[in-house]
Amino acid sequence: MSLSKSTAQLFSFEFFPPKSAEGASHLVSVQQQLAALKPEFFSVTFGAGGSTRDKTYETVLKIQQTGIAAAPHLSCVAATQDSIKEILHAYQDHAISKIVALRGDLPSGMMSTGQFRYANELVEFIRQQTGDFFDIHVAAYPEIHPQAVNAVQDFNNFKRKVDAGANAAITQYFYNAESYFYFRDQCEKHGITIPIVPGIMPITNYSQLFRFSDMCGADIPRWLRKRLECFGDDKAAIGEFGIEVVSQLCQRLLENGAPGLHFYTMNQASATLAICNNLLGSER
Ligand SMILES: Cc1cc2nc3c(=O)[nH]c(=O)nc-3n(C[C@H](O)[C@H](O)[C@H](O)COP(=O)(O)OP(=O)(O)OC[C@H]3O[C@@H](n4cnc5c(N)ncnc54)[C@H](O)[C@@H]3O)c2cc1C
Repeated sequence: MSLSKSTAQLFSFEFFPPKSAEGASHLVSVQQQLAALKPEFFSVTFGAGGSTRDKTYETVLKIQQTGIAAAPHLSCVAATQDSIKEILHAYQDHAISKIVALRGDLPSGMMSTGQFRYANELVEFIRQQTGDFFDIHVAAYPEIHPQAVNAVQDFNNFKRKVDAGANAAITQYFYNAESYFYFRDQCEKHGITIPIVPGIMPITNYSQLFRFSDMCGADIPRWLRKRLECFGDDKAAIGEFGIEVVSQLCQRLLENGAPGLHFYTMNQASATLAICNNLLGSER
């Protein structure tokens, strides 16, 4: 295949902050393997309601020291303006200039949203406080956010984030390429010109994928679900099939103008590496 862009910086990779010393050393090894693909950045998630705030920060600083740009996720639900200001300034002090700005979800049992209700308010606040310092990425939902009132309002709400100053969007993962192409066409129609980067979830584990997809509203097409069901507990077969299917999806996205790919790695290197190497195969 011929890639429309230099292979360097075609990819970005998402991690969650490790919970243990063992997890931390595993993540270092994962990062070293993925660094070979010359990613644009590594991003680090932010636990619901700020539960991983310190660990996200520590992980981001460690990544930045390796010479690859690190992008912390920052969710505003349950946050105060002061707590967001504090963390933004801490990132500025360390020259961390990319950020993934999100509303996030309230942890179960927590009732109050805090001083921010939606991600567009966070983007606006970041711009007010720090001007153009941050390169702000926001979330996009080609298959519609699960809590959206309807598809039109969800799109209008996405546009609010762009109007507030987002520089790029990363989508929720999907396996229906058409949903991405339709979303991108809608953006074009509404004058949205920021890059819309597909979020890619490698398929490695059947039950985990079904659980996640139920929660975040990602559709698993019938043909894919039915085929995955046939593999039962055979993880090796699921892995092999997943690499084939997701490589084909990624290839189609790139051939049709996707500006890059953002991988939800789940802190594992092998499936993501295999997919990226399939994509780059004929380039090397
Ligand atoms: C790339 C990516 C990374 C993510 N990283 C994390 C992470 O690190 N930590 C985490 O906890 N979660 C993460 N999530 C999940 C995300 O936090 C949830 O999907 C959350 O429910 C919505 O966040 P958002 O920023 O998209 O919210 P918003 O854009 O605020 O949208 C949330 C809902 O509110 C509606 N809405 C938005 N604005 C308005 C408005 N002004 N008025 C009325 N309705 C509105 C939207 O239609 C939507 O239904 C990530 C998702 C993606 C796609």
